Amino acid sequence: MAHIIRKRGIVTKSFPWKAEFLAEVWACIERARVMYPEMSKVPNRELPIVFFDTGTTAGYHKVRKVNHKDVHNLEFNTQAILLNWHDMFDDTIPHEVAHLVCYLVHGRKVPCHGPKWKRIAINLGGTAKRTHDYELEKCRKRRKIASTHIYRGAKGVDLVLTQIRHNKLQRGKMKWYGTATAGRVYKDDYIGLKELQC
Ligand SMILES: [Zn+2]
Repeated sequence: MAHIIRKRGIVTKSFPWKAEFLAEVWACIERARVMYPEMSKVPNRELPIVFFDTGTTAGYHKVRKVNHKDVHNLEFNTQAILLNWHDMFDDTIPHEVAHLVCYLVHGRKVPCHGPKWKRIAINLGGTAKRTHDYELEKCRKRRKIASTHIYRGAKGVDLVLTQIRHNKLQRGKMKWYGTATAGRVYKDDYIGLKELQC
């Protein structure tokens, strides 16, 4: 089942060159499938391509655990596509697909724009330049908070628990944890590590 991670700013309506852009995304994914057998872990039907129009980041590869299974999304900024077509088409597509491949081949421990990612991005036809400073900032932030855990309580609000609280809850040293807005979360409300995005 395809699961959309993003909640806000999703663009569902058409925009100029949408079909051409999408065709290149799927072509790049196809190239990745030929080069990296690990791509078979994520069939196309389980890989949503999401368009958004908020913020200044060109694109994201997002991964989060849903029912103990990794769900991947590729996201692209429609504003950036309209303003900066060539960069988005030639570079951002392989950039984000390379994040997906890098995750599937090397896991979450390797740096998001490190040499392993770089080699994959170049193999997929990208330049492997770190396009957006803003994006790098997010990456650094992400690494600092990588050991936070998400729980979803009865009210449907996600609650982020630190490693220590997560451990206490999972080991039964704490029966529940909660806030006024999210309500209580219990051991079984765990939905996974905070999503990675870069
Ligand atoms: Zn990146």
